[in-house]
Amino acid sequence: MSTDAERLGWAEQAAEALTEAGYRRGGVRSAIVALLDEQSCALSAVEIGEALAERGRRASRASVYRVMEELERIGLLARVEVGQGIVRYEPLREGPGHHHHLVCERCGRLEPFTDDGVERAIQRLSERLPLEVSEHEIVIRGACRSCAD
Ligand SMILES: [Zn+2]
Ligand SMILES: [Zn+2]
Repeated sequence: MSTDAERLGWAEQAAEALTEAGYRRGGVRSAIVALLDEQSCALSAVEIGEALAERGRRASRASVYRVMEELERIGLLARVEVGQGIVRYEPLREGPGHHHHLVCERCGRLEPFTDDGVERAIQRLSERLPLEVSEHEIVIRGACRSCAD
């Protein structure tokens, strides 16, 4: 689990990057950044809209999608495709909180996972690659326990 300070880190980084990119602070954009920063894994645009409504902040589906696109464009979000055209988003984090995903192709369920061996292998691989590696993502697809039964 990441600590409060590290979580604060992403939201602050996002606020700075948005300001640099010329976006105003406040409004739906800030509410979405705060919401995403509290999550341990990815949310869909529909879930984001619902979570905002629960907090008494109404946002149209279109404005949620627009903000997600902005955040993705400036490199703040990781996108996870869970099938059936559904995309989930989460803060792109290095260090604590960094994880990968298991996706059920039948029900769309998303589970985070971490594995030190995988991280070490990617680290070793990165040293040999003709690429200055900035990030990596792993999605493993299959049938979850309830769907496979
Ligand atoms: Zn995740
Ligand atoms: Zn499933």
